[in-house]
Amino acid sequence: GAEVVAWDGDGAKRDALSPSPRSRGEGTSPSSPTTALATPPLPTLSPMGERALVIADPLSIDLTGFDGVVVSPGVPLNRHPIAAHAGDTPIIGDIELFAQARADLPPHKVVGITGTNGKSTTTALIHHILEQAGIPTRMGGNIGLPILAQDPLPAGGVYVLELSSYQIDLTRSLDCDVAVLLNITPDHLDRYAGFGAYAASKARLFAMQSSGRVAVIGTGDAASAAIADTVPHAVRIAVPAEAPAFGPALAGPHNAQNALTAIAVCEALGLDTDTIRAGLQSYRALPHRMAHVADVNGVAYVDDSKATNPDSTAPALNAFARIHWIVGGLAKSDDLDACRPGFGNVVHAYTIGTAAQRFAELLQPDMAVTIANTLDEAVKLAATAARPGDTVLLSPACASFDQFSDFEARGRAFAAAVGALQ
Ligand code: ADP
Repeated sequence: GAEVVAWDGDGAKRDALSPSPRSRGEGTSPSSPTTALATPPLPTLSPMGERALVIADPLSIDLTGFDGVVVSPGVPLNRHPIAAHAGDTPIIGDIELFAQARADLPPHKVVGITGTNGKSTTTALIHHILEQAGIPTRMGGNIGLPILAQDPLPAGGVYVLELSSYQIDLTRSLDCDVAVLLNITPDHLDRYAGFGAYAASKARLFAMQSSGRVAVIGTGDAASAAIADTVPHAVRIAVPAEAPAFGPALAGPHNAQNALTAIAVCEALGLDTDTIRAGLQSYRALPHRMAHVADVNGVAYVDDSKATNPDSTAPALNAFARIHWIVGGLAKSDDLDACRPGFGNVVHAYTIGTAAQRFAELLQPDMAVTIANTLDEAVKLAATAARPGDTVLLSPACASFDQFSDFEARGRAFAAAVGALQ
Protein backbone atom coordinates (compact mmCIF):
# COMPACT_ATOMS: atom_id res chain seq x y z
CA GLY A 1 0.00 0.00 0.00
CA ALA A 2 0.96 3.59 -0.45
CA GLU A 3 2.66 5.20 2.45
CA VAL A 4 3.89 8.62 3.28
CA VAL A 5 6.34 9.65 5.90
CA ALA A 6 5.08 12.68 7.73
CA TRP A 7 7.90 14.56 9.29
CA ASP A 8 8.19 17.97 10.79
CA GLY A 9 11.95 17.99 10.59
CA ASP A 10 12.76 20.59 13.19
CA GLY A 11 11.84 18.85 16.37
CA ALA A 12 9.23 21.34 17.48
CA LYS A 13 6.12 20.07 19.21
CA ARG A 14 3.62 20.93 16.56
CA ASP A 15 1.62 18.85 14.24
CA ALA A 16 3.50 17.51 11.29
CA LEU A 17 1.22 18.94 8.69
CA SER A 18 0.91 22.48 9.88
CA PRO A 19 3.14 25.08 8.33
CA SER A 20 6.15 25.84 10.43
CA PRO A 21 6.26 29.44 11.66
CA ARG A 22 9.55 29.58 9.78
CA SER A 23 7.69 29.06 6.55
CA ARG A 24 5.68 32.15 7.21
CA GLY A 25 7.72 34.72 5.44
CA GLU A 26 10.49 35.04 7.97
CA GLY A 27 12.99 32.77 6.33
CA THR A 28 16.22 32.09 8.10
CA SER A 29 16.10 29.30 10.59
CA PRO A 30 19.06 28.81 12.85
CA SER A 31 18.75 25.06 13.33
CA SER A 32 18.01 21.93 11.41
CA PRO A 33 17.67 19.04 13.87
CA THR A 34 16.02 15.82 12.98
CA THR A 35 13.51 14.54 15.44
CA ALA A 36 9.91 14.39 14.55
CA LEU A 37 6.62 14.30 16.07
CA ALA A 38 4.42 11.91 17.71
CA THR A 39 1.08 11.99 16.00
CA PRO A 40 -0.17 14.15 13.22
CA PRO A 41 -3.91 14.69 13.15
CA LEU A 42 -5.62 12.67 10.48
CA PRO A 43 -6.07 15.40 7.93
CA THR A 44 -9.70 15.95 7.05
CA LEU A 45 -8.96 16.38 3.38
CA SER A 46 -6.02 14.07 2.97
CA PRO A 47 -6.52 10.83 1.08
CA MET A 48 -3.48 9.51 2.86
CA GLY A 49 -4.19 10.29 6.47
CA GLU A 50 -4.75 6.68 7.41
CA ARG A 51 -1.77 5.46 5.45
CA ALA A 52 0.71 7.97 6.72
CA LEU A 53 3.51 6.77 8.91
CA VAL A 54 5.12 9.10 11.35
CA ILE A 55 8.81 8.41 11.65
CA ALA A 56 10.78 9.78 14.57
CA ASP A 57 14.04 9.85 12.66
CA PRO A 58 13.51 9.42 8.91
CA LEU A 59 17.25 9.52 8.34
CA SER A 60 17.54 6.19 10.14
CA ILE A 61 15.33 4.19 7.75
CA ASP A 62 15.47 3.26 4.09
CA LEU A 63 12.88 5.42 2.32
CA THR A 64 12.94 3.41 -0.91
CA GLY A 65 9.43 2.38 -1.91
CA PHE A 66 7.58 5.08 -0.02
CA ASP A 67 5.23 7.22 -2.09
CA GLY A 68 6.54 10.37 -0.52
CA VAL A 69 8.16 12.09 2.40
CA VAL A 70 6.02 14.92 3.75
CA VAL A 71 8.09 17.68 5.29
CA SER A 72 7.30 21.07 6.74
CA PRO A 73 8.21 23.99 4.46
CA GLY A 74 10.52 25.10 7.28
CA VAL A 75 13.00 22.33 6.39
CA PRO A 76 15.84 23.89 4.33
CA LEU A 77 16.13 21.28 1.58
CA ASN A 78 19.20 22.95 0.12
CA ARG A 79 21.30 21.96 3.11
CA HIS A 80 19.38 19.27 4.97
CA PRO A 81 20.48 15.60 4.77
CA ILE A 82 16.89 14.44 4.15
CA ALA A 83 17.16 15.67 0.56
CA ALA A 84 19.91 13.20 -0.35
CA HIS A 85 18.57 10.49 1.92
CA ALA A 86 15.15 10.44 0.22
CA GLY A 87 16.76 9.38 -3.06
CA ASP A 88 14.02 8.87 -5.67
CA THR A 89 11.22 9.17 -3.13
CA PRO A 90 9.51 12.51 -3.71
CA ILE A 91 9.77 15.09 -0.95
CA ILE A 92 6.41 16.83 -0.72
CA GLY A 93 4.39 19.09 1.54
CA ASP A 94 0.83 19.35 2.77
CA ILE A 95 -0.23 21.37 -0.29
CA GLU A 96 0.71 18.43 -2.52
CA LEU A 97 -1.39 16.12 -0.34
CA PHE A 98 -4.25 18.56 -0.82
CA ALA A 99 -3.64 18.59 -4.59
CA GLN A 100 -3.83 14.79 -4.64
CA ALA A 101 -7.02 14.82 -2.56
CA ARG A 102 -8.85 17.15 -4.96
CA ALA A 103 -10.19 14.40 -7.19
CA ASP A 104 -12.29 13.12 -4.28
CA LEU A 105 -13.68 16.54 -3.32
CA PRO A 106 -16.98 18.02 -4.54
CA PRO A 107 -16.51 20.28 -7.58
CA HIS A 108 -14.53 23.33 -6.48
CA LYS A 109 -11.94 25.87 -7.55
CA VAL A 110 -8.49 26.63 -6.22
CA VAL A 111 -6.82 30.03 -6.22
CA GLY A 112 -3.07 29.92 -5.45
CA ILE A 113 -1.27 33.15 -4.53
CA THR A 114 2.48 33.65 -4.38
CA GLY A 115 4.91 36.56 -4.42
CA THR A 116 7.56 38.04 -2.15
CA ASN A 117 5.24 40.58 -0.52
CA GLY A 118 1.49 41.04 -0.28
CA LYS A 119 0.54 37.35 -0.30
CA SER A 120 -1.36 37.35 2.99
CA THR A 121 -3.20 40.58 2.25
CA THR A 122 -4.24 39.45 -1.22
CA THR A 123 -5.24 36.00 0.02
CA ALA A 124 -7.30 37.41 2.88
CA LEU A 125 -8.86 40.00 0.57
CA ILE A 126 -9.95 37.45 -2.04
CA HIS A 127 -11.27 35.18 0.70
CA HIS A 128 -13.18 38.11 2.20
CA ILE A 129 -14.75 39.16 -1.12
CA LEU A 130 -15.86 35.57 -1.79
CA GLU A 131 -17.25 35.18 1.71
CA GLN A 132 -19.20 38.44 1.43
CA ALA A 133 -20.54 37.23 -1.90
CA GLY A 134 -21.95 34.15 -0.16
CA ILE A 135 -19.58 31.72 -1.88
CA PRO A 136 -18.33 28.86 0.33
CA THR A 137 -14.63 29.45 0.79
CA ARG A 138 -11.61 28.41 2.84
CA MET A 139 -8.29 30.16 3.24
CA GLY A 140 -5.09 28.21 3.99
CA GLY A 141 -1.55 27.40 2.97
CA ASN A 142 0.90 29.88 4.45
CA ILE A 143 -1.88 31.65 6.38
CA GLY A 144 -4.24 30.55 9.13
CA LEU A 145 -5.05 26.87 9.62
CA PRO A 146 -3.40 24.21 7.44
CA ILE A 147 -5.75 23.48 4.56
CA LEU A 148 -5.81 19.75 5.36
CA ALA A 149 -7.02 20.48 8.88
CA GLN A 150 -10.11 22.29 7.60
CA ASP A 151 -13.44 20.78 6.60
CA PRO A 152 -14.00 20.22 2.89
CA LEU A 153 -16.26 22.67 1.07
CA PRO A 154 -19.59 21.82 -0.52
CA ALA A 155 -19.87 21.89 -4.32
CA GLY A 156 -19.10 25.31 -5.79
CA GLY A 157 -16.61 26.24 -3.09
CA VAL A 158 -13.32 28.08 -3.59
CA TYR A 159 -10.08 27.25 -1.73
CA VAL A 160 -7.82 30.30 -1.51
CA LEU A 161 -4.22 29.30 -0.81
CA GLU A 162 -1.31 31.53 0.13
CA LEU A 163 1.82 29.77 -1.15
CA SER A 164 5.38 30.55 -0.10
CA SER A 165 8.12 29.47 -2.50
CA TYR A 166 9.04 26.73 -0.04
CA GLN A 167 5.52 25.34 -0.29
CA ILE A 168 5.62 25.48 -4.10
CA ASP A 169 8.95 23.61 -3.99
CA LEU A 170 7.16 20.80 -2.12
CA THR A 171 4.27 20.69 -4.59
CA ARG A 172 4.15 18.76 -7.89
CA SER A 173 0.56 18.61 -9.08
CA LEU A 174 -1.35 21.65 -7.86
CA ASP A 175 -3.37 22.74 -10.90
CA CYS A 176 -4.71 26.14 -9.78
CA ASP A 177 -7.86 27.38 -11.51
CA VAL A 178 -6.42 30.84 -10.89
CA ALA A 179 -2.69 31.18 -10.16
CA VAL A 180 -1.36 34.52 -8.93
CA LEU A 181 2.14 36.02 -8.76
CA LEU A 182 2.32 39.45 -7.12
CA ASN A 183 6.00 40.34 -7.26
CA ILE A 184 9.50 38.95 -6.86
CA THR A 185 12.24 40.77 -4.99
CA PRO A 186 15.28 39.28 -3.22
CA ASP A 187 14.29 37.35 -0.07
CA HIS A 188 15.00 33.90 1.35
CA LEU A 189 18.16 33.72 -0.68
CA ASP A 190 19.78 31.61 2.03
CA ARG A 191 17.71 28.69 0.74
CA TYR A 192 18.13 29.21 -2.99
CA ALA A 193 21.15 29.01 -5.26
CA GLY A 194 20.42 32.60 -6.26
CA PHE A 195 17.75 35.03 -7.30
CA GLY A 196 17.12 33.08 -10.52
CA ALA A 197 16.36 29.90 -8.58
CA TYR A 198 14.02 31.77 -6.23
CA ALA A 199 12.15 33.27 -9.20
CA ALA A 200 12.03 29.86 -10.92
CA SER A 201 10.40 28.39 -7.83
CA LYS A 202 7.55 30.90 -8.10
CA ALA A 203 7.21 30.33 -11.87
CA ARG A 204 6.45 26.65 -11.23
CA LEU A 205 2.99 27.63 -10.02
CA PHE A 206 2.09 28.41 -13.66
CA ALA A 207 3.95 25.40 -15.08
CA MET A 208 1.65 23.17 -12.98
CA GLN A 209 -1.51 24.68 -14.54
CA SER A 210 -3.34 22.81 -17.27
CA SER A 211 -4.71 24.59 -20.32
CA GLY A 212 -7.70 26.87 -19.92
CA ARG A 213 -6.68 28.02 -16.45
CA VAL A 214 -6.24 31.67 -15.46
CA ALA A 215 -2.96 33.35 -14.48
CA VAL A 216 -2.70 36.81 -12.89
CA ILE A 217 0.80 38.29 -12.76
CA GLY A 218 2.04 41.64 -11.44
CA THR A 219 4.52 43.21 -13.84
CA GLY A 220 5.93 45.83 -11.48
CA ASP A 221 9.34 44.15 -11.23
CA ALA A 222 11.59 42.72 -13.93
CA ALA A 223 11.55 39.11 -12.70
CA SER A 224 7.75 38.90 -12.58
CA ALA A 225 7.41 40.65 -15.93
CA ALA A 226 9.81 38.09 -17.42
CA ILE A 227 7.65 35.26 -16.07
CA ALA A 228 4.51 36.93 -17.45
CA ASP A 229 6.17 36.89 -20.89
CA THR A 230 6.43 33.10 -20.70
CA VAL A 231 2.82 32.55 -19.57
CA PRO A 232 0.65 33.16 -22.63
CA HIS A 233 -2.61 33.24 -20.68
CA ALA A 234 -1.40 35.78 -18.09
CA VAL A 235 -3.59 38.71 -17.06
CA ARG A 236 -0.96 41.38 -16.41
CA ILE A 237 -1.38 43.76 -13.45
CA ALA A 238 0.47 47.06 -13.73
CA VAL A 239 -0.18 49.59 -10.98
CA PRO A 240 -0.37 53.25 -11.99
CA ALA A 241 1.80 55.56 -9.88
CA GLU A 242 -1.20 57.57 -8.67
CA ALA A 243 -3.50 54.67 -7.80
CA PRO A 244 -6.59 55.48 -5.68
CA ALA A 245 -7.31 53.70 -2.40
CA PHE A 246 -9.60 50.78 -3.18
CA GLY A 247 -11.12 50.69 0.29
CA PRO A 248 -10.55 52.04 3.79
CA ALA A 249 -7.99 49.31 4.56
CA LEU A 250 -6.40 49.34 1.12
CA ALA A 251 -4.43 52.59 0.88
CA GLY A 252 -1.01 52.97 -0.71
CA PRO A 253 0.45 51.72 -4.00
CA HIS A 254 1.28 48.27 -2.60
CA ASN A 255 -2.36 47.75 -1.61
CA ALA A 256 -3.46 49.04 -5.01
CA GLN A 257 -1.54 46.12 -6.47
CA ASN A 258 -3.14 43.71 -3.99
CA ALA A 259 -6.63 45.10 -4.72
CA LEU A 260 -6.24 45.10 -8.52
CA THR A 261 -5.01 41.52 -8.30
CA ALA A 262 -7.98 40.50 -6.14
CA ILE A 263 -10.33 42.20 -8.61
CA ALA A 264 -8.82 40.24 -11.53
CA VAL A 265 -9.08 36.97 -9.60
CA CYS A 266 -12.68 37.56 -8.54
CA GLU A 267 -13.66 38.53 -12.09
CA ALA A 268 -12.09 35.29 -13.30
CA LEU A 269 -14.21 33.46 -10.73
CA GLY A 270 -17.31 35.09 -12.22
CA LEU A 271 -18.15 37.72 -9.58
CA ASP A 272 -19.78 40.94 -10.75
CA THR A 273 -18.32 44.40 -10.24
CA ASP A 274 -20.75 45.53 -7.53
CA THR A 275 -20.08 42.45 -5.42
CA ILE A 276 -16.32 42.91 -5.75
CA ARG A 277 -16.56 46.62 -4.92
CA ALA A 278 -18.61 45.88 -1.78
CA GLY A 279 -16.00 43.36 -0.64
CA LEU A 280 -13.13 45.82 -1.13
CA GLN A 281 -15.00 48.41 0.94
CA SER A 282 -15.74 46.08 3.86
CA TYR A 283 -12.27 44.48 4.00
CA ARG A 284 -10.30 45.20 7.19
CA ALA A 285 -6.50 44.96 7.43
CA LEU A 286 -4.81 41.93 8.91
CA PRO A 287 -3.07 42.56 12.22
CA HIS A 288 0.62 43.62 12.13
CA ARG A 289 0.43 44.99 8.60
CA MET A 290 0.39 48.75 8.87
CA ALA A 291 -2.17 48.39 11.65
CA HIS A 292 -3.03 51.54 13.59
CA VAL A 293 -2.53 50.57 17.24
CA ALA A 294 -3.35 53.78 19.13
CA ASP A 295 -3.03 57.55 19.24
CA VAL A 296 -1.19 58.82 22.32
CA ASN A 297 -0.80 62.58 22.83
CA GLY A 298 -1.57 63.19 19.18
CA VAL A 299 1.07 60.72 17.99
CA ALA A 300 -0.06 57.73 15.90
CA TYR A 301 1.47 54.30 16.65
CA VAL A 302 1.50 51.92 13.69
CA ASP A 303 2.36 48.21 13.84
CA ASP A 304 3.91 46.89 10.63
CA SER A 305 5.70 43.99 12.35
CA LYS A 306 4.93 41.74 9.38
CA ALA A 307 7.42 43.72 7.32
CA THR A 308 10.33 41.28 7.65
CA ASN A 309 12.45 42.51 4.73
CA PRO A 310 13.40 45.93 3.33
CA ASP A 311 11.02 45.62 0.37
CA SER A 312 8.01 45.19 2.60
CA THR A 313 9.09 48.12 4.81
CA ALA A 314 9.51 50.43 1.83
CA PRO A 315 5.78 51.19 1.34
CA ALA A 316 5.35 51.93 5.06
CA LEU A 317 8.02 54.65 4.94
CA ASN A 318 6.17 56.24 2.04
CA ALA A 319 2.82 56.22 3.84
CA PHE A 320 3.50 58.87 6.53
CA ALA A 321 5.07 62.31 6.62
CA ARG A 322 7.00 62.49 9.92
CA ILE A 323 8.09 59.04 11.02
CA HIS A 324 9.90 57.79 14.11
CA TRP A 325 11.05 54.51 12.66
CA ILE A 326 11.70 51.43 14.79
CA VAL A 327 13.83 49.12 12.65
CA GLY A 328 15.97 46.02 13.18
CA GLY A 329 15.87 42.45 14.40
CA LEU A 330 17.44 39.54 12.58
CA ALA A 331 18.50 41.05 9.27
CA LYS A 332 17.89 39.12 6.06
CA SER A 333 19.77 41.51 3.82
CA ASP A 334 23.02 43.45 3.95
CA ASP A 335 21.48 46.80 3.12
CA LEU A 336 18.31 48.87 3.45
CA ASP A 337 18.48 50.28 -0.06
CA ALA A 338 14.90 49.30 -0.89
CA CYS A 339 13.75 51.67 1.87
CA ARG A 340 15.80 54.62 0.62
CA PRO A 341 12.95 56.38 -1.27
CA GLY A 342 11.15 56.87 2.06
CA PHE A 343 14.18 58.07 4.08
CA GLY A 344 13.09 61.70 3.66
CA ASN A 345 9.98 60.97 5.73
CA VAL A 346 11.97 59.69 8.70
CA VAL A 347 12.56 62.16 11.53
CA HIS A 348 14.52 59.69 13.64
CA ALA A 349 15.35 55.97 13.50
CA TYR A 350 15.63 53.69 16.53
CA THR A 351 17.51 50.47 15.84
CA ILE A 352 16.82 47.24 17.71
CA GLY A 353 17.91 43.60 17.84
CA THR A 354 20.90 41.88 16.33
CA ALA A 355 20.99 44.40 13.50
CA ALA A 356 20.94 47.43 15.83
CA GLN A 357 24.59 48.41 15.52
CA ARG A 358 24.98 47.73 11.81
CA PHE A 359 21.70 49.40 10.82
CA ALA A 360 22.67 52.44 12.87
CA GLU A 361 25.90 52.70 10.88
CA LEU A 362 24.00 52.20 7.62
CA LEU A 363 21.42 54.88 8.37
CA GLN A 364 23.67 57.44 10.08
CA PRO A 365 24.54 59.34 6.90
CA ASP A 366 20.87 59.82 6.01
CA MET A 367 19.04 60.48 9.27
CA ALA A 368 19.23 60.87 13.02
CA VAL A 369 19.68 57.43 14.61
CA THR A 370 19.65 56.05 18.14
CA ILE A 371 20.64 52.49 19.00
CA ALA A 372 17.76 51.42 21.24
CA ASN A 373 18.48 47.66 21.28
CA THR A 374 15.07 46.62 22.62
CA LEU A 375 11.60 47.34 21.31
CA ASP A 376 10.44 48.65 24.70
CA GLU A 377 13.31 51.12 24.83
CA ALA A 378 12.67 52.21 21.24
CA VAL A 379 8.99 52.92 21.96
CA LYS A 380 9.91 54.97 25.05
CA LEU A 381 12.54 57.01 23.20
CA ALA A 382 10.25 57.60 20.23
CA ALA A 383 7.36 58.64 22.47
CA THR A 384 9.56 61.22 24.15
CA ALA A 385 10.80 62.67 20.86
CA ALA A 386 7.57 62.60 18.83
CA ARG A 387 5.39 65.70 18.35
CA PRO A 388 1.63 65.72 17.72
CA GLY A 389 1.00 64.69 14.12
CA ASP A 390 4.06 62.39 14.01
CA THR A 391 3.88 58.63 13.52
CA VAL A 392 5.82 56.04 15.50
CA LEU A 393 6.20 53.16 13.09
CA LEU A 394 7.37 49.63 13.87
CA SER A 395 8.41 48.35 10.44
CA PRO A 396 11.52 46.31 11.23
CA ALA A 397 12.64 45.11 7.76
CA CYS A 398 13.96 42.07 9.64
CA ALA A 399 12.90 38.69 10.94
CA SER A 400 12.00 38.61 14.62
CA PHE A 401 13.68 35.45 15.93
CA ASP A 402 16.51 37.21 17.73
CA GLN A 403 14.12 38.69 20.32
CA PHE A 404 10.66 37.21 19.66
CA SER A 405 9.05 33.90 18.75
CA ASP A 406 7.56 35.37 15.58
CA PHE A 407 6.37 38.61 13.99
CA GLU A 408 3.00 38.34 15.74
CA ALA A 409 4.67 38.27 19.17
CA ARG A 410 6.77 41.27 18.13
CA GLY A 411 3.62 43.16 17.12
CA ARG A 412 1.90 42.30 20.38
CA ALA A 413 4.97 43.49 22.32
CA PHE A 414 4.78 46.79 20.44
CA ALA A 415 1.11 47.20 21.32
CA ALA A 416 1.89 46.42 24.97
CA ALA A 417 4.70 48.99 25.03
CA VAL A 418 2.35 51.59 23.51
CA GLY A 419 -0.32 50.64 26.04
CA ALA A 420 2.16 51.28 28.85
CA LEU A 421 2.59 54.88 27.64
CA GLN A 422 -1.03 55.76 28.26
P1 ADP B 1 3.29 38.45 2.76
O1 ADP B 1 2.24 37.50 3.22
O2 ADP B 1 3.71 38.20 1.33
O3 ADP B 1 4.46 38.56 3.67
P2 ADP B 1 1.62 40.69 3.64
O4 ADP B 1 0.35 40.90 2.91
O5 ADP B 1 1.55 40.06 4.96
O6 ADP B 1 2.62 39.91 2.68
O7 ADP B 1 2.38 42.08 3.75
C1 ADP B 1 3.67 42.14 4.34
C2 ADP B 1 4.24 43.52 4.22
O8 ADP B 1 4.55 43.76 2.87
C3 ADP B 1 3.25 44.60 4.65
O9 ADP B 1 3.65 45.09 5.87
C4 ADP B 1 3.32 45.67 3.58
O10 ADP B 1 4.02 46.79 4.04
C5 ADP B 1 4.11 45.06 2.43
N1 ADP B 1 3.29 44.82 1.23
C6 ADP B 1 2.01 44.40 1.18
N2 ADP B 1 1.61 44.26 -0.09
C7 ADP B 1 2.67 44.55 -0.88
C8 ADP B 1 2.91 44.59 -2.29
N3 ADP B 1 1.95 44.24 -3.15
N4 ADP B 1 4.14 44.96 -2.71
C9 ADP B 1 5.11 45.30 -1.84
N5 ADP B 1 4.96 45.29 -0.51
C10 ADP B 1 3.76 44.92 -0.02
